[in-house]
Amino acid sequence: TWAHVPMGPPDAILGVTEAFKKDTASHKINLGVGAYRDDKGKPYVLPSVLEAEKRITEKKMDKEYAPITGVASFTKLASQLAYGADSTDLKEGKIAATQSISGTGALRIAGAFYNKFYPNKTIYLPSPSWGNHTPIFKDSGLEVKSYRYYDKENISLDINGMIEDIKAAPEGSIILLHACAHNPTGVDPTEDQWRQISDAVKSRGHFVNFDAAYLGFASGNVDKDAFAIRHFIKEGHRIALCQSFAKNMGLYGERAGAFSVMCDSAEEAKKVDSQIKIIVRAMYSNPPIHGARLVSEVLGDEKLNQQWLGEVKGMADRIISMRTQLKNHLEELGSKHDWSHITSQIGMFCFTGLKPEQVERLMKERSVYLTKDGRISVAGISSDNVKYLAESIHHVTKD
Ligand code: PMP
Repeated sequence: TWAHVPMGPPDAILGVTEAFKKDTASHKINLGVGAYRDDKGKPYVLPSVLEAEKRITEKKMDKEYAPITGVASFTKLASQLAYGADSTDLKEGKIAATQSISGTGALRIAGAFYNKFYPNKTIYLPSPSWGNHTPIFKDSGLEVKSYRYYDKENISLDINGMIEDIKAAPEGSIILLHACAHNPTGVDPTEDQWRQISDAVKSRGHFVNFDAAYLGFASGNVDKDAFAIRHFIKEGHRIALCQSFAKNMGLYGERAGAFSVMCDSAEEAKKVDSQIKIIVRAMYSNPPIHGARLVSEVLGDEKLNQQWLGEVKGMADRIISMRTQLKNHLEELGSKHDWSHITSQIGMFCFTGLKPEQVERLMKERSVYLTKDGRISVAGISSDNVKYLAESIHHVTKD
């Protein structure tokens, strides 16, 4: 029956992990992982989440189904986190929000919703973007195009190209923006550049979908990382938002996320909500409850919330410190290259600017594993391996 099914290509990032596992060198480093690691290279369960888990267990809650749009306290708190607790749109009931199967699920519901109800079926992604964006939106029946984003030459944001492409897109297109900590480049617009982007989007009447997978994780400050989202709203955009708690709460496998759509009125939000329910019901009926309960417990309790904010900042700070150390070591080794992008970029990932043949050498000669595009997961760097990593990068870039 299935003899005609062709073999699909393996996942590019999982391929890196496979090669890493096979390597027997004791000093090997895996910089392909998309999950936070502590300074000992171990996965990190946030103490605030552990405490929330303990409290939930003590409550002996039932395991009944959540409603189609998920745990209500979760969606409310997730929205408050992104839009701000004082958001008038939230208070007036203008935001339709649903729990989703983490960030990926939020994007998939978004795609299905636009395909059904948004007149223009083309979504523009930054070039490059997170590798799963294109498959998700194609799978949703949308056409996927891109706008210029990363300037390879200068290892920075191609703000002029980005603005030009946004202005050249047909009026009323869907534009996907990474709210902060752009994956895979680590290059974010400055606040002033966000203002320019907002103006360009507005001048063409485009619709913006923010992907916020790293709120708080980029700078260690949620309000700072939510700047773009809140600025666009202040400027009168009616946005949609995909949220994930994988990184900022370390809930990867719990799959806690949210999709929300900002409407013109509470009445409109009710109608949008009713249609989201129809989409979700057919896709997976209702979301898992445990992760959402954890998030609710953490965000909903003043003390735990403060503790969590400290822990997110701790993760962000460790990453920022690894960036600084890597750059300093490269300079101490006498590297002639400009490595300032290592510290100017933000979030879990760093686009090193390494060429594919240099990446190849890093893997073969130094047992340092990363994706071909030169992206490293800064979370994979630790006090123990940062010097070796700098020596390795210097080794493949010095001549
Ligand atoms: N968007 C971006 C930009 C991401 O980097 C990720 C995670 N790598 C996601 C969405 C979704 O991740 P998850 O489904 O695990 O929440």
